[in-house]
Amino acid sequence: MSLRLNNLTVSYQRHPAVHHVSGQFAPGRATAIFGPNGAGKSTLLKTMMGLLKPDSGSVELAGFARRDIAYLPQQSEIDRSLPVSVSDLVATGLWHSTGLFGQVTHAGRGRVADALAAVGLKDFAARPINALSSGQFQRVLFARILTQDARLILLDEPFNAVDARTTFDLLELIRHWQEEGRTVIAVLHDYEQVRAYFPHTLLLAREVVAWGETASVLTDDNLRRAAQTAAHWQDRAPVCTVSGEGTA
Ligand code: ADP
Ligand code: MG
Repeated sequence: MSLRLNNLTVSYQRHPAVHHVSGQFAPGRATAIFGPNGAGKSTLLKTMMGLLKPDSGSVELAGFARRDIAYLPQQSEIDRSLPVSVSDLVATGLWHSTGLFGQVTHAGRGRVADALAAVGLKDFAARPINALSSGQFQRVLFARILTQDARLILLDEPFNAVDARTTFDLLELIRHWQEEGRTVIAVLHDYEQVRAYFPHTLLLAREVVAWGETASVLTDDNLRRAAQTAAHWQDRAPVCTVSGEGTA
């Protein structure tokens, strides 16, 4: 399977948030997306998920479909006030196999229980989701990804407001997903986490600053360039009308 971005530009009211991005994600590996605030990281994930439409360029999936993608938005975008239990939420990861309103089968219940055990929440199945800490809630969302059995996993700042122990456990799960040949793409802010768990990094500041092996991407020089590029974009707030090569 492969996931490729071809000269991708995505805008809000014609102001590009992601500008002429091209490259391929390493299949079966974990890639971190790193970059300053407002660099277009969330926009890029949403576009890959099909939630935003590019102005130009494309997201090319080969060997798998959108239904094989699991997507975890930033916690701030998730409504936790829904009156559902932990196991109900995790079971929604099964909807490709059950249908949206289908009954969860016995095997499905088994998968939900296994997923909860794998994230250390064996006894939490009946708990309402609004009674969880943010770390516990993040474990639940990872359990949902486990039941979904996705080939490609997109995570947007998965460890924000999450305690250190949970972060460690979930990073180990990400390591395990790579061993299973799943492709993981995660927006992260912690340099040490990226270095320890993500062999590849895309450094983004609306445009690609660098993309490749983490050690060669996260250099002082590249990080400085990312900060400069982001500041430059902020000053200009350009309107993009070009559909071909960038003029930036
Ligand atoms: P990041 O995730 O890297 O912090 P985002 O992708 O959220 O960056 O945002 C990139 C740029 O697009 C920012 O300038 C942001 O203000 C703008 N933006 C994001 N979402 C919207 C939106 N829904 N409407 C208008 N502008 C947006
Ligand atoms: Mg974001």
